[in-house]
Amino acid sequence: MPHTIRPIATAHSPYKQKFGIARQPGLVPAAEVCIELNREFTADSVRGLADFDYVWISFIFHDAIEEGWAQMVRPPRLGGRRKMGIFATRSPHRPNHLGLSLLKLERIESGKTVKLYCSGADLLDGTPVIDIKPYIPFVEAKPDARAGFVSGKPDELHIIWADNTGAGLSAGERDLIGQSIAQDPRPAYQDIPERVYVMNVSDYEVKFQIQDNTAKIIAVGRAGQGLP
Ligand code: SAM
Repeated sequence: MPHTIRPIATAHSPYKQKFGIARQPGLVPAAEVCIELNREFTADSVRGLADFDYVWISFIFHDAIEEGWAQMVRPPRLGGRRKMGIFATRSPHRPNHLGLSLLKLERIESGKTVKLYCSGADLLDGTPVIDIKPYIPFVEAKPDARAGFVSGKPDELHIIWADNTGAGLSAGERDLIGQSIAQDPRPAYQDIPERVYVMNVSDYEVKFQIQDNTAKIIAVGRAGQGLP
């Protein structure tokens, strides 16, 4: 019997484009998303969930569906040079375009809709969520497990802010921008020091350059208002 999977919630994320989103959850603690459940779900549906620190978010890579899928992909972690089987990676370009992120559950708010506020997200704004489950450390935490080509956190860029750049930002906005760029959003193996990158995050457009292992944030402006 065919089985239909339908979104049960939507992720409202500060990441308005894929460029600049952390490649895995937890790498940008300042990336807070609001997972808003569809109206049919009441506070009863999350009763007890606030007693868990982390939640598994199953979702659809909705902005990758048109890009299809492949048997093998080039993980950025390998510099884009080596190919791995799709099922040995977390690439969005998988047959059913299903994603899975372990996010820190900060709080739950129940009003007209139920909202889960989570941090450390790697989700694009508008991501359809198809399931939510509590993280259960005693069965799921495997710190001694082998992790193939993904052992350990990726190297981070050192961040410097050009004079007065980002003056009007809140501490949280500065952290979100700085932590996101520190993940080095460039396509793997791209190294063009004079290139100016532009990233849309939260309500801002951010211009930056990367030289050696340092990213210099050269301009921050309200999105759509033209950067200096
Ligand atoms: N942690 C998840 C997993 O393992 O399935 C996602 C890992 S995947 C490498 C993370 C990347 O997916 C992000 O850096 C972003 O470029 C992309 N992404 C996030 N949300 C997306 C969406 N809704 N549609 C398409 N791509 C998305």
